[in-house]
Amino acid sequence: MLTLLKLLKDGHFHSGQALGAQLGISRSAVWKQLQRLEADSNLSIHKVRGRGYQLAFPLDLLDEAGFSNSCYPVHLHEIVDSTNAEAFRQINKGHSAPYVIVAEQQNAGRGRRGRNWESPFAQNVYYSLVLRVDGGLRQLEALSLVVGLAVLNTLKDFGLQAVGLKWPNDVLVGDKKIAGILLELVGDPADVCHVVIGIGINVNMRTATGVGQPWTSMSLETGMRVERNEVINALNKRLKNYLNAHAVTGFSSFHAEWEKNHVWQGRDVSLMAGLHQVDGVVVGVDQQGALRLCVNGELRTYSGGELSLRLRDDS
Ligand code: ATP
Repeated sequence: MLTLLKLLKDGHFHSGQALGAQLGISRSAVWKQLQRLEADSNLSIHKVRGRGYQLAFPLDLLDEAGFSNSCYPVHLHEIVDSTNAEAFRQINKGHSAPYVIVAEQQNAGRGRRGRNWESPFAQNVYYSLVLRVDGGLRQLEALSLVVGLAVLNTLKDFGLQAVGLKWPNDVLVGDKKIAGILLELVGDPADVCHVVIGIGINVNMRTATGVGQPWTSMSLETGMRVERNEVINALNKRLKNYLNAHAVTGFSSFHAEWEKNHVWQGRDVSLMAGLHQVDGVVVGVDQQGALRLCVNGELRTYSGGELSLRLRDDS
């Protein structure tokens, strides 16, 4: 399917006969593949009698050769359920870390607590980095916050302004979400485990129906199409630098940088844990990355995967 897409990606017309000849298949086999392609990837393909087939928009596809100098080996997939799920399968098969899984599309991309992550074909970055962690809880200390800093700086590398972080793991431009981070562990964190660092970055997405909150993309912010291969290479580099430093110092050397980039530092917020709600003012984070809130004049600390922060309406 990917070979067929590569032939069509320029957005020009290609006759069924020419496509068939290049793929070594019949015209009717081309037609069947195109139907599958449309169904699987939601891409719109125009068919015009006498001219052939044309993608509604030209596509930039990820190119595995473009990752050859990357600081982590990158494995490219066409369509997966989620890159984190694919990473789990690779860990179970004994594939030796570190490595990166990227995909053109996720059919079941997810955020925290199983929430959907909108992942249309060939528009964004869907990325999971697998690391092996050997008996060092310190290496997991506030790790998702440090990953947030790496993502934030990757976006700045591409000229984005006003990028900020929202505790615990959202990356925003103004009040619009541009990237999400989902860390998952496999194994025993006190002994040997693997951590899967899942990252979704909106790159060239300009419309979306399934996102239930304000969002943006690199292309919407810069007014230009952005090369996803370059975003992945830059992300690898930023992550490697941040993770190497984090392995030596833990979170302590990132604490000030993180608070400086926290969009809701000092703001009135509500912290939601299921149906429970605590109102307070954001003081910052502690050395483990837990949220510090001033609640009725008392300093309290919160951590855990079920917590969500919202700005208070009157803030
Ligand atoms: P929090 O609980 O920290 O407030 P959240 O509500 O943003 O976070 P996450 O689990 O981090 O939840 O991310 C999933 C949510 O992100 C979805 O429920 C949806 O509202 C939004 N979302 C889904 N896809 C995208 C996307 N491609 N870009 C931006 N936002 C998205």
